[in-house]
Amino acid sequence: MTTARYRRIVLKLSGEALSGEAGFGLEPSIIKSVSRQVKEVAELGVEVAVVVGGGNIWRGKVGAEMGMDRANADYMGMLATVMNSLALQDSLENLGIPTRVQTSIEMRQVAEPYIRRKAIRHLEKKRVVIFAAGTGNPYFSTDTTAALRAAEVEADVILMAKNNVDGVYTDDPKVNEDAVKYDQLSYMDVLNEGLGVMDSTASSLCMDNDIDLLVFSITEDGNIKKAVMGENIGTIVRGK
Ligand code: UDP
Repeated sequence: MTTARYRRIVLKLSGEALSGEAGFGLEPSIIKSVSRQVKEVAELGVEVAVVVGGGNIWRGKVGAEMGMDRANADYMGMLATVMNSLALQDSLENLGIPTRVQTSIEMRQVAEPYIRRKAIRHLEKKRVVIFAAGTGNPYFSTDTTAALRAAEVEADVILMAKNNVDGVYTDDPKVNEDAVKYDQLSYMDVLNEGLGVMDSTASSLCMDNDIDLLVFSITEDGNIKKAVMGENIGTIVRGK
């Protein structure tokens, strides 16, 4: 029996959260630590879906700034998320956690295509589901993917894991030492005050669909469990 606050979660991992100090590529020790934390909550009976970013490998915006066609550059970004997802799947399965990757762009030799009902079935069977390749559309982000998939699979919350900050602050805490952490916010606050929680498309989608979001640090071991148990960490952005 689980005593967790949430029954079904969408964990958003940025690509950066899987990379080391360099902020680029994949750091095996970090992937292992994240996987152990996911295992901990899966073993509580919590249904875990994961949306993985790709910024540690490629960002569409950077390609576009280099003169590439934006859509093409974005497709590269989506492919980057697939690489991260496969690395995480491998690591989770090494820990004995059954895991399925579903991609929004079909690549059937590599992973299942995204099928909402099938994803829900996997979750009900306590398999971790990793949503890869973003929304499948250029001009979107994996934050928006997290919001979309959370709405689709009726998740109770999005847990947004950060590796460089432990919540939402009034200002960048690394630059301004007077910056204060918020305990709680609304999406309207996030949008009005231009807080860098997630992009505005993702914030609007969460706001319109009453999806709660918890921003917290994944660097501290055991924090995913604390978040799931409803301990007072990070900043909660309320859907309503
Ligand atoms: N991307 C996209 N559509 C999506 C999701 C992602 O085009 O629905 C591309 C976009 O180029 C983005 C890249 O994939 O820069 C990596 O995703 P994101 O920047 O969200 O990753 P994160 O910052 O979470 O690591």
